[in-house]
Amino acid sequence: MNNTMKLNTIHEDSLIVVISAPSGVGKTTIRKNIGLKDKNFAYSVSYTTRRPRAGEIEGLDYHFITQNSFRAKIQEEFFFEWAEVHQNFYGTPKELILSSLKEKRDILLDIDVQGARKLQSILKEAIFIFLLPPSWTILEQRLRNRETETEQQVQQRLITAKNEIQRCWEYDYVVINSQIEETVEKIYTIISAEHNRPFRMKGLIRENLKIS
Ligand code: 5GP
Repeated sequence: MNNTMKLNTIHEDSLIVVISAPSGVGKTTIRKNIGLKDKNFAYSVSYTTRRPRAGEIEGLDYHFITQNSFRAKIQEEFFFEWAEVHQNFYGTPKELILSSLKEKRDILLDIDVQGARKLQSILKEAIFIFLLPPSWTILEQRLRNRETETEQQVQQRLITAKNEIQRCWEYDYVVINSQIEETVEKIYTIISAEHNRPFRMKGLIRENLKIS
């Protein structure tokens, strides 16, 4: 893929953080909290063909588009990756990833396990975090409490969650989301530790200390 080359050459100082979690784990709240805490973070707003849920804002939560528009964008190679999840399409646009990396901003991607697997082979230095619910009972409660899915959809999401959680071993980090602030803190600790990996410090060290 063309992007691979470009990304490998420019993302030394930026961090790409990919977060996956089954529906209902609380990823959206966590993502918004990370954005509040660190203004240097760019969040890649995905495109989706699913309908907006109550309270979701166009351009902030997702770009909501029709299936036809989505298919056209696939043809135009507009997406960095895309996947079908729960009978809807979701895709990450290329544009923001490339511009954020040039501006040396960190990027947060909220992507399902299929998308994450694709990116693992393209973005070798990105970090992959899987969020888990504390228990099945709590996940089920959270899905029901948000009152956005029918009973059949809740059951479908629980089945998908089982399959997705079995893939958590493929990630770099696993965080159990019991309590939002604590989870955000843990993710933040991971991000700041990752920033201190020698290969991500290269530019700074070379510039400040003039060594190679
Ligand atoms: P939801 O409909 O609950 O917002 O999201 C359903 C699933 O789609 C979640 O697992 C979420 O991570 C995933 N998702 C959201 N945006 C993207 C994307 O751009 N690409 C992929 N592959 N998955 C996405």
